[in-house]
Amino acid sequence: MRVIRQKLEGVDMVVDRLECGPVRVTCIPDIANIAWPAKAIFGALSSDALAAAETRAPSGTVNASDGTVRLSFNSYLIETPDFTALIDCGVGNDKERPDRPAWHRRSSSFLDALSALGVAPQQVDIVINTHLHADHVGWNTRLVEGVWQPTFASARYVVCGAELDHWSAIDRENDGVGPDGVGTLHGAFADSIAPIVETVGYEAVAADAEIAPGLRFQPAPGHSPGMAAVILSTPHGDVMFPADAIHHPLQLDDAAVSSNFCENPEQACSTRQRLLAQAAAGNAVLAPYHFPAPVFGRLKTDETSFRFCPLAVEDVS
Ligand SMILES: [Zn+2]
Repeated sequence: MRVIRQKLEGVDMVVDRLECGPVRVTCIPDIANIAWPAKAIFGALSSDALAAAETRAPSGTVNASDGTVRLSFNSYLIETPDFTALIDCGVGNDKERPDRPAWHRRSSSFLDALSALGVAPQQVDIVINTHLHADHVGWNTRLVEGVWQPTFASARYVVCGAELDHWSAIDRENDGVGPDGVGTLHGAFADSIAPIVETVGYEAVAADAEIAPGLRFQPAPGHSPGMAAVILSTPHGDVMFPADAIHHPLQLDDAAVSSNFCENPEQACSTRQRLLAQAAAGNAVLAPYHFPAPVFGRLKTDETSFRFCPLAVEDVS
């Protein structure tokens, strides 16, 4: 396996690509490496714990002096001889997210990046939503003449059935408007999920379903009730996409740190520990959704904590 880093032609974006024989996995950050107040994501983390995390986490990912951590929002494009798939869909463009300024009315070059990689939207065969939070479903849809339409019109949109049922029920209970008045899932249910349900439809599957040959879900509940991780088998070993079972490298050596956005923090912790232990034991390459680059790495463990060891990156730009 090797990782190539490339500045995309004509697009303000740098991507890392994992090459595993005939299989390629490209990380496309819809938002790359932004500072996020640590308290807004890890509310229970004291400033002392943050300072300690800064000494252990990868350089530049924690800044205890201004109280921030770095996050990206990474979609992964998988290309095999048999299919082209996208795992998670970023925040998207033009979405109204008044209570999330970093996600509000964005204009990112995500589709230009795909195009620079030689992939037109209609060539995507499978779109996987690991869960339905607003920062994972954005590019499900795009605004065309005032209407939210599926971005990947020929794709199977795959989600865990329990996840779709959960948020559909909440949307019905809320009558489309959350207690905060901005809509279910910050508005994402209405503009990024319902338009899929109402047009091409979701393929709602089991949390351990095989999605395509060599590509399968693995249950990862806790952060969201029906979240699933994704495992890709390649001729050179497995790649694990843990979705939001882990948000930031600082959680690798502090098992108890859950994000403020985990529905069931205890379950989220045990899911995280299980997935990390599995990746370490199987020497899988981890491809996290929210880590800033470098994103592809293996885990070393000493039983109580994990260390993320990025694969060497060859810069070809
Ligand atoms: Zn997320």
